[in-house]
Amino acid sequence: MKNYCDYDAIVHYQPGAFNQQYKTILAGKTAEIDRIQYVSQVVESFQNGEYRSFRTLQPLILYRVFGQYSGSDHADAKGAKLFGGFASTEFAESVIDAKLRLALDPSWMNTKMYEAKLLIPTNTTISVGIVAPVRLKSGTILPGGADQVLLPLGWPEEWITGYRRVTGRQLQAQPYFLRSKPGEYDTKNSLFTKICPACGCEQTRVLLEHERFTIIGKKGNQYEMSNVCLNPQCQYYW
Ligand SMILES: [Zn+2]
Repeated sequence: MKNYCDYDAIVHYQPGAFNQQYKTILAGKTAEIDRIQYVSQVVESFQNGEYRSFRTLQPLILYRVFGQYSGSDHADAKGAKLFGGFASTEFAESVIDAKLRLALDPSWMNTKMYEAKLLIPTNTTISVGIVAPVRLKSGTILPGGADQVLLPLGWPEEWITGYRRVTGRQLQAQPYFLRSKPGEYDTKNSLFTKICPACGCEQTRVLLEHERFTIIGKKGNQYEMSNVCLNPQCQYYW
């Protein structure tokens, strides 16, 4: 049985409804320490300015959404660096869901194109709260609501266990993270490369004419599959 795209079966869910099943639970895995002090801009990024600081008692999985955009000479580079301080206990369900759950103001220019999966070691000091809502200039409110974890400054690359592209479509299964590190900046071209809608992998292939096949969806509609994901763990057709 092939893993293929049945558009009829795609169910949209509320932001945060899916990843909560998989999120890292911090209770019992951390010991509270004296609160680490931060500049007001950082404090205000936590809901109601509330956060607590901890020392980890065991390795913990965290996620960081990032992405920088640049023109050809990198002089105008903008966005969120891989090694920024903010992480979360939940993975991004899609680009839009990440924007809502992490309250990522578009003016910060985080492309939200990538997510790094981190394994932070025992005895790491972190601060934890909830992502505060952000009101955009347009009046729109990004609600936040994810756990926000502030990492120590200068955390090392060794903590990263994998990377992935954040999908445009909501994940329906746990994401795959691959070892290959994305480039530091994206340009107009790389922002729009085709990715697997299921896992976000950039290694995809257009099926040859004779390889294409049609599936009957859950509601009886027909869909032709014309692409395949080359990630061996995924092999999704769409
Ligand atoms: Zn895939």
